[in-house]
Amino acid sequence: MLENVNEKCAVVGIFNHKDASKLAYFGLHALQHRGQEAAGISSGDGKKLHTIKDRGLVSQVFNNDILENTLVGDMAIGHTRYSTAGDDSILDAQPVHANYDLGQLSIVHNGNLINANEVRNELIQKGAIFQSSMDTENLIHLIAKSNQRKLKDRIIDAVHKIKGAYSLVFLSRSKMFAMRDPNGFRPLSLGRVGEGYVVASETCAFDLIGAEYMREVEPGEMLIFEKDKAPQSIKVFEAEPKHCIFEYVYFARPDSNVFGQNVYKNRKQMGIELAKEHPVEADMIVPVPDGGIPSAIGYSQESGIPFEMGIMRNHYIGRTFIEPTQEMRDLKVKMKLSPITSLIKGKKIIVIDDSIVRGTTSRRIIRMLKEAGAEEVHMRISSPPTTDPCFYGVDTPDKDKLIAANMSNQEICEYIEADSLAYLSTDALMRSVDGEASSYCTACFTGDYIL
Ligand code: 5GP
Ligand code: SF4
Ligand code: MG
Repeated sequence: MLENVNEKCAVVGIFNHKDASKLAYFGLHALQHRGQEAAGISSGDGKKLHTIKDRGLVSQVFNNDILENTLVGDMAIGHTRYSTAGDDSILDAQPVHANYDLGQLSIVHNGNLINANEVRNELIQKGAIFQSSMDTENLIHLIAKSNQRKLKDRIIDAVHKIKGAYSLVFLSRSKMFAMRDPNGFRPLSLGRVGEGYVVASETCAFDLIGAEYMREVEPGEMLIFEKDKAPQSIKVFEAEPKHCIFEYVYFARPDSNVFGQNVYKNRKQMGIELAKEHPVEADMIVPVPDGGIPSAIGYSQESGIPFEMGIMRNHYIGRTFIEPTQEMRDLKVKMKLSPITSLIKGKKIIVIDDSIVRGTTSRRIIRMLKEAGAEEVHMRISSPPTTDPCFYGVDTPDKDKLIAANMSNQEICEYIEADSLAYLSTDALMRSVDGEASSYCTACFTGDYIL
């Protein structure tokens, strides 16, 4: 159903700043954790848009010459992309760029359109030709085909035809637009930088470029940035917030605020709740780096059991093993994580991770700790069992690959060779974050899909 997805991406937009493309570059750098497959920036100098995009990390795609001499102008939008293997064509990198009757347009998108194939087939039947497999390209066609005279109205037309998760930034020759779906699945924040403005998926991008956080772009809201004017806000849809809880569990960077709340604080609280729900006697708490660290600190503080970095992470793995075969995945975990044997030997250990997806990581880690002489290993997961795939912009595998969709708790515990296994309950997860439970999407844990 959903082969053409834009998973785990980041977007950034800079308006009215003389170093726009450089700020977009640094913003993307801060957001690199949201996607490592490809990166791109479009800049605008008032007359023309300029686009550079390629496979690779942000630091590999751009250099000073490109930023100074090609990506000129005081407006820029950028994107980092994560894609599943076999779907890493350069045509699928963003920004998506086109010339059309109103001029030039670039778009960046974080999220996933769930009616992409229907919309695409309809467009193809009416004669459209597609260059990529991206759902985002639908938007270009919808905008180009709209009968409205102004781009603003064409975007409004187009978003009424799409369904799903989208945090979008558009750049025309003179304006920038930001638009968020009515459920606000994916984050998007607004800030000030100098005399200009910035929008970004996470506020860690603001911190790096010295921008000041103003507020969230609201679900269903469109912001229009125009020279010498304050941003204009249009309520395109009534907001019905369904923020992705998984941003707090795993995805966003701990130093970011998303949906108006600090990620580290919430993640640590999940650890505190986990210690309350699932205590166990042990000598030390060991996080699976990096994702398990904040919740392990919370678990340690609540339980009084010492926190130790018993597993080290090698940060220099690079992209050698991107083939998602089972053997490669095992090897990758081995290369990436290693135990501090002298610390672990003869000890009862609580290992904390943010989530179990296929179970490969947990199984490998527990074997490694047992081989290093751990007496007992108790696995504690700071989120509920991941039982269902995400259709709203996060790359979870199909249901048949999700271990918690196919095995009981006891079976998973045996499979990963743990002495015990416990997950945070959905109620405790919701207690760990601010706001009404009904304002979050929890579908990958509950199967309660919103769309
Ligand atoms: P597993 O080995 O069970 O498939 O993966 C679990 C590990 O993957 C956990 O350490 C977790 O931090 C990480 N993880 C959780 N969700 C995702 C995701 O959507 N994508 C990737 N690449 N890793 C994830
Ligand atoms: Fe987030 Fe899970 Fe909902 Fe996807 S299904 S938007 S990962 S909470
Ligand atoms: Mg992890």
